[in-house]
Amino acid sequence: MSAQVAVVGSYNQDHVWVADRLPAPGETRLGRYHTGPGGKGFNQAVAAARLGAQTLFIGALGEDPAGEHAMDLAREYHLAMRVQRPPGEATGSAAVIVDGQGRNQIVVAPGANAVLSERFVRGQAEQLRAAHVVLTQLEVNTAAVETALALARSAGRITILNPAPVDAGVSAIALSDTDILTPNETEFAAVLAAQRGGPVAGEGVATLGDDELHALCRRLGVPTVVVTLGARGCFVSHADGQLRGDEATHYRIAGEAVEAIDTTGAGDAFNGALAAALALHPGRPFADAVRLANRYAALSTERPGAALAMPTRAEFQARYG
Ligand code: ATP
Repeated sequence: MSAQVAVVGSYNQDHVWVADRLPAPGETRLGRYHTGPGGKGFNQAVAAARLGAQTLFIGALGEDPAGEHAMDLAREYHLAMRVQRPPGEATGSAAVIVDGQGRNQIVVAPGANAVLSERFVRGQAEQLRAAHVVLTQLEVNTAAVETALALARSAGRITILNPAPVDAGVSAIALSDTDILTPNETEFAAVLAAQRGGPVAGEGVATLGDDELHALCRRLGVPTVVVTLGARGCFVSHADGQLRGDEATHYRIAGEAVEAIDTTGAGDAFNGALAAALALHPGRPFADAVRLANRYAALSTERPGAALAMPTRAEFQARYG
């Protein structure tokens, strides 16, 4: 059976140390340790699956215990997997140090994620052309991202690009095959600066009026841009003629009041939920899907962790009906 949502992206094994404060260079601190699944692609796939969308994860894992663990988790989360296992590459991993105030230091070793090949993604063409929604990010190599978007776009599927992490920039080719771009404020400013010679400071986005923000979104040449604004919710901007059932070209959706304890992976919850909502309810207005994503992401901040914090459909319905 073909998937409703296909996610092309990264898997990392997160190793997390919690200390009273971040160590200075050369310093050793005592702390607590836990490990768990992460990687933007996997987190987003888990969110979509937990909301009830048949979800396929396409990515790369090492031939190592962390890779086997990922396959076990996928079974647990009811994710279909199409996974390249490049010889000699380790499963992606992240070393995360967190202090008592939620500040962190992170080192990521992309391992297999970095070598997910264009050829392997092309080999999944049938799946990518059949999925209702194809969702990807920038934690695997650029050629794989571009290929996934192009295959899905050529079949008339909805393509979502979450431009994170943005340090490597976003290729113009990827943007040209994107229907919906979902940056956070910092990513939005960075993509804009790279495309049009900005500069717009990340913090500056918060001070812009809706019409100004809409005009900046329109400069990116992507039909729909959804800028996530953390606790303040999100902003939606459509090109004229791309209203997707919405009544306005641009609007804000306010953040939900929640008792946030850990916002790690909130953006991933938002993206996975948006993809699931669009796939599960194709005829409904776009604003409905964004509202669902905004609520789902808010709920995910009430629990610690990323993939493991994604609420189930039942948990979501218990809160929001
Ligand atoms: P992260 O990197 O922490 O995963 P992000 O920077 O990619 O997140 P944000 O814009 O911070 O993305 O958050 C994504 C979405 O999560 C927001 O649009 C909102 O729906 C929800 N969200 C995040 N933080 C909160 C919060 N404190 N209260 C309510 N909703 C939140």
